[in-house]
Amino acid sequence: MNKQIFQTPIEYLRGVGVTRADVLKKELEIFTFEDLLRHFPYKHIDRTKLYKIRDIQPDLPYVQVLARLKHKEILGEKHTKRLVAQVQDDTGTMELVWFQGIRWVEKYLVTDKVYILFGKPGSFNGKPQMAHPEMELYSPAALKQKGNLTLQPAYSSTEKLKQFSLDSKGLQKLTAALLEQHNKEIHENLPIYILQQFKLMGRADAYRNMHFPDDAVMLNEAIHRLKFEELFFIQLKLLKNKLLRIQKFKGHVFESVGHYFNDFYHNKLPFELTNSQKKVLKEIRQDTQRGVQMNRLLQGDVGSGKTVVALMSMLIAIDNGFQTCIMAPTEILANQHYQTIKSLVGDGFIEVALLTGSTKKKDRNVLHEKLENGQLKILIGTHALIEDKVQFQNLGFVVIDEQHRFGVEQRAKLWRKNTIPPHILVMTATPIPRTLAMTLYGDLDISVINELPAGRKPIQTLHFYENQRLRMFGFMKQEIAKGRQIYVVYPLIQESEKLDLKNLQDGTEIMAREFPLPDYRISIVHGKMAAKDKDFEMQRFVKHETQIMVATTVIEVGVNIPNASVMIIENAERFGLSQLHQLRGRVGRGAEQSYCILMSSHKLSYDGKIRLDTMVKTNNGFEISEIDLQLRGPGNIEGTQQSGVLDLKVADLATDQQLLLQARKCVEEIFAKDPELAHPENQILQLAFQAKNAGLSWDKIS
Ligand code: ADP
Ligand code: MG
Repeated sequence: MNKQIFQTPIEYLRGVGVTRADVLKKELEIFTFEDLLRHFPYKHIDRTKLYKIRDIQPDLPYVQVLARLKHKEILGEKHTKRLVAQVQDDTGTMELVWFQGIRWVEKYLVTDKVYILFGKPGSFNGKPQMAHPEMELYSPAALKQKGNLTLQPAYSSTEKLKQFSLDSKGLQKLTAALLEQHNKEIHENLPIYILQQFKLMGRADAYRNMHFPDDAVMLNEAIHRLKFEELFFIQLKLLKNKLLRIQKFKGHVFESVGHYFNDFYHNKLPFELTNSQKKVLKEIRQDTQRGVQMNRLLQGDVGSGKTVVALMSMLIAIDNGFQTCIMAPTEILANQHYQTIKSLVGDGFIEVALLTGSTKKKDRNVLHEKLENGQLKILIGTHALIEDKVQFQNLGFVVIDEQHRFGVEQRAKLWRKNTIPPHILVMTATPIPRTLAMTLYGDLDISVINELPAGRKPIQTLHFYENQRLRMFGFMKQEIAKGRQIYVVYPLIQESEKLDLKNLQDGTEIMAREFPLPDYRISIVHGKMAAKDKDFEMQRFVKHETQIMVATTVIEVGVNIPNASVMIIENAERFGLSQLHQLRGRVGRGAEQSYCILMSSHKLSYDGKIRLDTMVKTNNGFEISEIDLQLRGPGNIEGTQQSGVLDLKVADLATDQQLLLQARKCVEEIFAKDPELAHPENQILQLAFQAKNAGLSWDKIS
């Protein structure tokens, strides 16, 4: 936006003034000219057509009519008082009625004059009628004016605003005035060659057509242009950050692959790596040889083998004289990584330690010392790792598990643990769609593991309705007889904790009746239990003292029990897709065929049905995330909430994927040719970028 004009406070717009400006700010957060311009209509009402009275049906949305006023009179008393008028064209007559503003309207209506009428048709006593129509005296000029015979913008407003005549119509007038007075000052911010290449409408035209389109085609072109612009500048910023980072931060060079890696690879790794795993290792290998700090996101479903890849990358770092760490969001997860890695590397191979909030002071001191003298090579922990007291001799490679749970500040702290920042590998087990990743993590390089290790049996997912419960019990008994263990999960939704707990208790009772002692034993775990009790119950299940674990979603993360091969999800329709997928990921970890049974009532919403069908149809987290994005929109996808990146006003990451890819590619090509945006034709971008990102400091974006 042109700075002078569009940062102008809204009270300076003619017709606004201090009082209305106040209401605009409070009610719609319209502070500046720009805010008003970007308060886009939520729809357009089609006034391109003139109806004949004969053709008016009560079920038509809005109609516009040219008709002559034949008669008007005020009827009724007090509460029933109303103004009734009769209009006529060459096809019939229609009644108009007002219940409010009667005197004012009555004065304005002149018998035998022709009016342009606009309103929602209804009927009264079987005759066509229109209540509170908009009326304007007809003249050929009036008909051509803005709003008549066009697509008329409808703006969201509030009761409060209406008191200040800022209903949809009032906002329309303000916007029209703004565009009329300042349209020339809306400057282009994309180079001409881009406008030409992508056949984009000019910026000033786009803003005008967003509000007052010449026709539907122009409206669509305006939307298209502003969507492109929005996505383009996000990508420009992300990729610029990436460039800046590359220029500003050197990276440790891992010259060679040495003893640790090779020994592990040849003598310890108990399986063949999947092609995806090999590909990702290669990507990381390349990243860490270039002398530039790596920032890579590794996405892959639960069980796809991310941890092994992380470990092997860490071994290369260690081979080159560096220390490494893994940071996990919870103690359970940290512990699990610790166990996994210990068992993968075996005894006496390399020094590994765990650091969490519960690490004892004494152990902690030993640990600090070993970190500082470089003896400790792999540290695994929670955010206890980022405390200032934790100092490494030479930290070279950091793995962060579950990106979105850590804030930017926390990440930055890890960076500062060495003079040259360590390479960073962020792992997430919640696959997100490509376009979302490109926007949320657009300044990172992205690796994907999209296959599961060979030989693993895909989890079979079934959807049962309530009347198939007996069948489910039968199935459970059959699996328990084979020596398997079973999870039964109940929803836990904050707003109705009480209800959920009751569900869980009722469910447990039913289970206890169906699976009585002494043949069967049941563990119960829910969020309201003391940690100690929770742990005790978990341990009983882990040790196979119980066969059934009844739980709320507290088990969602961090449980790894290969013998548990059946996941039953009660009220499955109440879970979101990604949560269902996460829960399902708790099984399928052993050699046995695993199952996931989704129990639901017969009453399913449309979305609920799609969610359950999707789960039955596919095990692929990426496919599931795409569907989740379509169903819920980007703002509701796990991990996106805190991200300002998604404050998109025009574009929609769920529907505008193609456009995003175009914008991204376009920016990539620009930076490839002109990283400083110094070429004359890119000057315009340099300016726009500076204006948009004024005040942006490196600290905020690292
Ligand atoms: P993730 O971290 O992606 O959830 P893990 O790295 O924990 O997955 O791997 C899940 C399980 O699969 C572990 O038991 C691991 O040892 C095993 N695994 C990993 N890669 C392979 C492979 N290529 N072949 C067979 N098993 C594998
Ligand atoms: Mg894992």
